[in-house]
Amino acid sequence: MSKSLLPGATLGVMGGGQLGRMFVQAAQSMGYFTAVLDPDPTSPAGMVAHYHIDTDYLDEQGLAQLMQRCDGITIEFENVPSPALVTLGAHRPTSPDADALGVCQDRALEKAHFKRCGVACAPHAVIANEAQLAAVPAALFPAILKTSRMGYDGKGQVGVADLAALPAAWAALGGAACVLEQRLPLAHEISVVIARSAMGVVVGLPVQQNLHRDGILAVTEVPAPDVPEATRQQAFEAAARVADSLNYVGVLCVEFFVLDDGRLVANEMAPRPHNSGHHSIDSCDVSQFELQVRALTGLPLVAPRQHSAAVMLNLLGDLWFARGDVPRAPDWAAVLALPGVHLHLYGKTGARRGRKMGHLTVTADQPAQARDVARQAAALLGIDPGLVGSAA
Ligand code: ADP
Ligand code: MG
Repeated sequence: MSKSLLPGATLGVMGGGQLGRMFVQAAQSMGYFTAVLDPDPTSPAGMVAHYHIDTDYLDEQGLAQLMQRCDGITIEFENVPSPALVTLGAHRPTSPDADALGVCQDRALEKAHFKRCGVACAPHAVIANEAQLAAVPAALFPAILKTSRMGYDGKGQVGVADLAALPAAWAALGGAACVLEQRLPLAHEISVVIARSAMGVVVGLPVQQNLHRDGILAVTEVPAPDVPEATRQQAFEAAARVADSLNYVGVLCVEFFVLDDGRLVANEMAPRPHNSGHHSIDSCDVSQFELQVRALTGLPLVAPRQHSAAVMLNLLGDLWFARGDVPRAPDWAAVLALPGVHLHLYGKTGARRGRKMGHLTVTADQPAQARDVARQAAALLGIDPGLVGSAA
């Protein structure tokens, strides 16, 4: 990737979800043409891109078309099949590359990589066969069993109280390759979104503090209200080391736990922009999606500056249902009457409980103001206002 791909070029993205949509929107606003490969003819990104190729991710003709159209290609979800990225990478600049993707697709490899970089992660054991199951030490419990691959939003995870409960838990996950992690005493959850160029320049968004409900991100606050500056710096440096040692080019998010005793522990990483970085569209002068465009095209990476305090609320499909599963329309007009509210809906038809339909970012001069308005917006929409400012 020595030559920059300048505006006017066509950028492709594997995957048509909301992250792809916001990448496409950022690329278009910078003067790029865009193409999306996603089998769903109504995918959120496919509907706004210049070109939509609706084949399977491994379809040879689909991949050939994408390469024909595009000067550079990125991804918007980590489960893009590796062989597809290998094929694309042989002919076009791709960011990230298939090697980095391979590490991010597998929790066991991810944790091994954290360790290699000197980044602490939860005590854990890999369970891919009966012998490994039998060798699990009792000291790991209580624990969480997570499938090594394909998990997201808390899916593919079960809590395991003790050693005796482990075989049934593993069976419940289909005997798939898993990582068993000690359940840690979390004080807070934070994430860092960074971008790294082929030249090794690393820039990042301000550290985000995240609150999850039922395994799904509910609220992000920036600046992180409860995390000392030294811990934020440590998180940024750890994320940069993780990227450097993968020779990573693109946007990478690393999720961390801050433990009750203040220690920082890496949880997992995503080889793409992240839900917790969505606030940057409205709160920073360079968004995570613009960073993705810049990293892919080889344009300069400049450090984003946060100009407003922000609270982001995820808008799940639950908001489209009143009690008793009666369909309803959220009162957007009421919410948009509040100051500093930025509504982002992803164009998904068919609300379902737990489905990410959009997000709402509240910006303000001061964090307390942003929180106050976010609580009002939450109340209007049927989100528990108590979630805002309670990140733990
Ligand atoms: P996903 O891929 O679904 O995001 P994560 O590994 O990030 O999976 O787990 C989802 C959430 O579950 C985390 O954000 C955290 O709230 C909780 N969690 C995960 N691992 C642990 C752990 N070892 N100890 C305590 N809580 C955990
Ligand atoms: Mg996670």
